[in-house]
Amino acid sequence: MIVYDLIVVGAGIVGAACAEAAAGEGLRVALVEPGPVGGGATAAAMGHLVAMDDDPAELALSAYSLGLWERYAELREAEFSRCGTLWVARNESELAVVPAKIARLAAAGLAAEVVDAQQLYALEPALVSGLAGGMRVPGEAVVYPPRMARYLVDKALQAGGQLFAGRRVTELLADGVRLDDGQRLSGPVLVASGLAVPQLLPELKVYPRKGQLVITDRYPGRIRHQLLELGYADSAHGDAATSVAFNVQPRPTGQLLIGSSRQVGVSDREISMPLLRQMLERAFAFLPMLRGLQALRVWTGLRPATPDGRPYLGQVPGRGQVWVAAGHEGLGVTTALGSARLLIDGLLGRTPAIDPIPYDPARALTREAA
Ligand SMILES: Cc1cc2nc3c(=O)[nH]c(=O)nc-3n(C[C@H](O)[C@H](O)[C@H](O)COP(=O)(O)OP(=O)(O)OC[C@H]3O[C@@H](n4cnc5c(N)ncnc54)[C@H](O)[C@@H]3O)c2cc1C
Repeated sequence: MIVYDLIVVGAGIVGAACAEAAAGEGLRVALVEPGPVGGGATAAAMGHLVAMDDDPAELALSAYSLGLWERYAELREAEFSRCGTLWVARNESELAVVPAKIARLAAAGLAAEVVDAQQLYALEPALVSGLAGGMRVPGEAVVYPPRMARYLVDKALQAGGQLFAGRRVTELLADGVRLDDGQRLSGPVLVASGLAVPQLLPELKVYPRKGQLVITDRYPGRIRHQLLELGYADSAHGDAATSVAFNVQPRPTGQLLIGSSRQVGVSDREISMPLLRQMLERAFAFLPMLRGLQALRVWTGLRPATPDGRPYLGQVPGRGQVWVAAGHEGLGVTTALGSARLLIDGLLGRTPAIDPIPYDPARALTREAA
């Protein structure tokens, strides 16, 4: 039996980043993936690299990760485009929250600025008239997640890693894993299988938050920033079973990617036409010109969510040398690089750059026991 320093289960953006970080440290890495690399939630994502400031722990992980993404700003495979984020306020009361948001982002090392109505229309003339202003975060960007996952896996392989493509981990063993063809791999295990984590670690709850996206034909120059309504955080992190928010991205190809929706606990991949209509009406209300554009494709994806909205990053209590990196919900692309760094630092017994406690999977078990 081959002995590895780390067996990574799943090659989404999170597993790929962990495999790359581990192999880069000289660890002998095995990576197991039954489907295409980056073919899970990663393939469905918008690829917006964005800091959300409503949870301090998530903000810390996002800010750390955004810094790490900078090394790929010129990488062709990342398809990195620094469009910046423009958060849009419909009225004065929405605009009133902006200074506090800017202060929280600044404390995390991220620059943002208030935008008044005049500046808003100078930046994005296609927005509906009558908006109050907003907040611009100029350093944020978009990437193409599945291609980036492939790049990170290739880096891990170049550093000596081994990919078990088309293979699935069926069982955690005392000293490694068993694959679906009966092979056994020996070594510490990192479970990074997204929504499928409970199949191997039933003590860790991960549930789907389904999203739908629409992509248009090419219309270069119609918008320049990733545009979001300031109410987006309520949709992303609120308790509503179903919600939509205005969230539109200019792809480097000139296409527009239109989101977003959230459905809690729905695990089918069907397109919901009523929800799609609701999502598009929301987007049309902010960007009326979208009505006249040609949509090319609609797809759905399942965000892997945890009960408290924070990912599980760390060693799993009571499981020996088993680690987990999963449950990043709608921020897994943004936070993959920081998550990987945090995880590998923990594995190697180093002090990580940010406090790992908020992401410790032990919290889920403690809550269960309480
Ligand atoms: C519609 C939508 C929009 C999004 N937009 C953004 C965005 O703009 N910005 C952002 O930061 N995030 C976004 N996200 C979130 C992001 O896509 C996810 O958080 C992230 O992709 C999760 O990555 P992952 O590697 O944990 O999971 P996945 O990408 O799902 O990868 C898990 C992998 O594990 C494999 N696997 C499962 N079981 C096993 C097993 N037993 N053995 C081996 N392998 C296994 C699967 O095949 C899969 O490839 C979005 C998500 C959706 C759905």
